[in-house]
Amino acid sequence: MVSVRLLSIVCCPGCRAAFHSSDDALECPSCGGHYRARDGFLDLRPRERFSEQTKYLDETLHADARHETVSPPLLSAGVRHHMLVRFLQPAPGDRVLDLGCGSGRVLVWNQPLGPYQVGLDVSPFFAAEARASVDLALGDLRRLPFADCSFNKAYALDVFEHLSRDALGQMLDEASRILEPAGQLFVYSHVRKNARIALGLRAINRLARGLERAGLVDLSQERLRKSDHVNPLADIPDLEQVVGQAGFRVAHIRYYTPLVAGFIENILLRLGERWLTRRAQRKAAAQAPAIAATGRTPGAAGAGPGQADPDAQEASRASRAAFKARVARGGPIYFLLHVLTWISRLDLVLWGRVRSGPFFALLVKERAR
Ligand SMILES: [Zn+2]
Repeated sequence: MVSVRLLSIVCCPGCRAAFHSSDDALECPSCGGHYRARDGFLDLRPRERFSEQTKYLDETLHADARHETVSPPLLSAGVRHHMLVRFLQPAPGDRVLDLGCGSGRVLVWNQPLGPYQVGLDVSPFFAAEARASVDLALGDLRRLPFADCSFNKAYALDVFEHLSRDALGQMLDEASRILEPAGQLFVYSHVRKNARIALGLRAINRLARGLERAGLVDLSQERLRKSDHVNPLADIPDLEQVVGQAGFRVAHIRYYTPLVAGFIENILLRLGERWLTRRAQRKAAAQAPAIAATGRTPGAAGAGPGQADPDAQEASRASRAAFKARVARGGPIYFLLHVLTWISRLDLVLWGRVRSGPFFALLVKERAR
């Protein structure tokens, strides 16, 4: 949505001047830039073109429609959200910015806690629930379209690893600018240097790849997501140095080596997902005898090598939507996933203090840049 409050804090991403606004158009009195409100969000992407762009703009990454509706915070997403709430403590009176909000699902999960929230992302794949209930803007993390000190809290989940060193520096400078003094930035990301226990993750990934070769799981989406990783941070001292340059101090850190969560999500759930997809494909084939009569088998509808198969994609999408609906209704599957989420938190209890790649950190703005 686009509230009056959002309109009061946005500024020109090009020159940072306050806008003249009318109905659904924003005009910059300083540089003459025009921006508009679109379908439930403000389009405040800077007019200047950046050579470096994320694959998150890529339509194929969103073809499975994961973003369209918001599921409850379960499994590793549930663990991440639990840590966000614990570290950042969003509460009524807070002004919170989600940097790289994606579908906006975390904003939706935070809603009951009562803060004023804004979500910003570079791509417009926002969930319906987020469009309906949270202020959203399309923009670039390196040119935040908000006035100085507009927020007292912000968070960036799975964002740092997608940025180059330069872009990360620019983003941190911008985050520091839009936060008020002593403002907090919660981060979930990873550094390149892993502890020994991360070997366990490699073993899980090897097992997952073996299962994929056997046709039992599908990791293509996972691969596409990770293909965008730039991993700009070497280790934790490097993190401290980079955030320090933008005026932040690491106030609190907890490491996250998801051995338990990785096994549950990359092995157990992928097997379940594949099984549900196959079942959906079989059902679709049974309901469409005309298609079967033409000799087209489900999942082989003329897609060339490397191309997404529309039938398979549609089946995958339908089974995922059905599964999400089932989870949202509660009942045994929801209960099971809830229990698995609790079990996943073991990763924090058992090795949360072992310094390794992935981390949750609370940064505090100590000084203006
Ligand atoms: Zn301007």
